[in-house]
Amino acid sequence: MLIVMKKQASAEEVRVVCEHIEGLGFRAHPMPGAQRTAIGITGNQGAIDQGQGALEELSGVAEVIRVSKPYKLVSRDVKEDNTVIQFPGTNATIGGKNLAIMAGPCSIETREQALAVAEQVAAAGAQFFRGGAYKPRTSPYAFQGLGEEALKIMAEVREAFGLRIVSEAIDRESLALVEKYADMIQIGARNMQNYSLLREVGRTRKPVLLKRGMAATLEELLMAAEYIMNEGNYQVVLCERGVRTFIDHTRNTLDLSIVPAVQRLSHLPIIVDPSHGTGKRDKVVPLARAAVAVGADGLMIEVHHQPDKALSDGAQSIYPDQFADMMADVRQIARILHRDVPDGIQIERETDGVAAMNEPVAKAR
Ligand code: PEP
Ligand code: MN
Repeated sequence: MLIVMKKQASAEEVRVVCEHIEGLGFRAHPMPGAQRTAIGITGNQGAIDQGQGALEELSGVAEVIRVSKPYKLVSRDVKEDNTVIQFPGTNATIGGKNLAIMAGPCSIETREQALAVAEQVAAAGAQFFRGGAYKPRTSPYAFQGLGEEALKIMAEVREAFGLRIVSEAIDRESLALVEKYADMIQIGARNMQNYSLLREVGRTRKPVLLKRGMAATLEELLMAAEYIMNEGNYQVVLCERGVRTFIDHTRNTLDLSIVPAVQRLSHLPIIVDPSHGTGKRDKVVPLARAAVAVGADGLMIEVHHQPDKALSDGAQSIYPDQFADMMADVRQIARILHRDVPDGIQIERETDGVAAMNEPVAKAR
């Protein structure tokens, strides 16, 4: 069920309607839009139908609509305008006109490695630094990540270059630490249907990067996002990273058609990861260009300064120089679509009480 408030409805009227819904034992999710606020109702859908008439009578309510799709809060029915995620104190956004570019190694291996890669991706214009601290590896004998030490290194990267930090949580314990250190919490393909972890990350208030499961349909991906949003965390970004098919010339098959399919159904941003999507260095840049052309809201790219020595995913990690060339290409492609690739991260500073933007941090150094 969805309540559409009148254009002129006051914040107080929205609050009273939410309180009424919660009083009936349901969850109310107010979603402010450019035109008016909608309030999603989740819980036992059948049961609230009887209360529809009473809801329509509440002050400020324009109409009460049944949402027939299985996903509610992710749906454009509930929120027509695209969700734009902000990173307070910076110019970084995801889902708006600007593309969000995330780059970094698969795993954080050493402080030197992380700082070396971060410096180069920042200089090339990335705004986000990715890196695994907790790695969900196929083999229990493979490198599992440095854990909290890696997160501390990433915090140092943010300090040095301003880059916002994205790292994966694989369970409850790692989630608490990733939430503490990172700016964005990644939920990996292998955990896309780990419903208790989705609920847990839904109770945090940091933006979530939700990667598509290896064999997940569009609806399953949206339902996974719904789990997170139903707990009150509406800052979800979807990520296409390839699915398993019969082909063997790439690690996965990057399904770029999911980008416009998601955009039709959902207001959530969607980015593309052509690194895991192809598994092969020479295919990452062409597919990154294609992802931007198809309308993705951003890219996640694995970059390593010494990929032959990488402890994970070296074969799909591109060199910093290749990343810089890719940025030049995607900048041109974005322009055709009336979008921009910002030139790196800018950090706000207070000058006499007025917020101003610094030069991009990496450039200023
Ligand atoms: C990763 O981003 O390093 C990763 C493990 O990705 P995925 O969950 O898509 O396999
Ligand atoms: Mn990887």
